[in-house]
Amino acid sequence: MSTRLRIAVQKSGRLRDGSLRLLEDAGIAFRSGKDQLKSPSSNFPLEVIFLRDDDIPQYVEDGVADVGIVGENTVLEKKRKNNPIKKLGFAHCRLSIAVPRGTNYSGTGWLEGKNIATSYPAIVRQFLERRNVNAGIHEISGSVEIAPGIGLADAIADIVSTGSTLQSNGLQEVEHIMDSEAILIAGPQPSNGTKDILDQLLFRIDAVHSARNNKYILLNCPDEAIPRITNIIPGMKSPTIMPLARPGWSSLHSVVNENDFWNQIGQLKAAGAEGILVIPIEKMIA
Ligand code: ATP
Ligand code: MG
Repeated sequence: MSTRLRIAVQKSGRLRDGSLRLLEDAGIAFRSGKDQLKSPSSNFPLEVIFLRDDDIPQYVEDGVADVGIVGENTVLEKKRKNNPIKKLGFAHCRLSIAVPRGTNYSGTGWLEGKNIATSYPAIVRQFLERRNVNAGIHEISGSVEIAPGIGLADAIADIVSTGSTLQSNGLQEVEHIMDSEAILIAGPQPSNGTKDILDQLLFRIDAVHSARNNKYILLNCPDEAIPRITNIIPGMKSPTIMPLARPGWSSLHSVVNENDFWNQIGQLKAAGAEGILVIPIEKMIA
């Protein structure tokens, strides 16, 4: 069988959908049924292996998978020989310490001698050591947020995204330990022949990310407004200009960054732009 790059993704959970969508947007076709453990792609030399996210750093270190998609928090917690390759821009969250609402929390000194429940003992231990705090760490694997309410711990350290889970469990966030997002990791030793495939995969991921961050914009403007508008939205090289049937008017096409777009709209209108259309880009290669 020809060489395939084996990529580990989470079997089910918060990373699964984003991981599969990224591969699919990169034009890689494979089956992804819920009971599937391995799935070779039909159009790219890659095989997807579905695993629990906690196991991915180890499998990648051992070379069972060549690369994996996992949260940065898990990489830091597991301390395996994993090389970070690329941040993937989804599953953004933070790891925080929370205490019961109404606690008179005065800083990390408050944690001295207390018990903290968490699924991330290594990260929490390191955080406490750096601040010279001695606290007990009570490792539990799930539903950490109920620990204070049932008398298991004084505080928790857990993943937070909106804070609503903390809120509904009567907790308040008091320390922000780290930020995390999904990341592509590789093992210490690339297996034979996979380097080129990984480079192709990274090229495609870059194209997907650029496309997600940019939009194609079309607008109509009087010919005399073209230089001003070109200054505002220069695009990848320079805008495409096409004459409209109506004399003295043109259609101008360019690429805009999603983040700048709302600021530019006002400037474009002031410069004379009309009939502005903004459409998604599927792939973008500079
Ligand atoms: P598994 O059964 O595979 O061990 P899990 O319960 O450990 O799954 P999930 O809750 O699916 O893990 O979270 C996986 C990763 O997704 C986390 O390690 C974190 O990086 C990220 N994550 C967790 N919660 C959120 C959230 N609320 N918003 C965004 N990202 C999150
Ligand atoms: Mg897990």
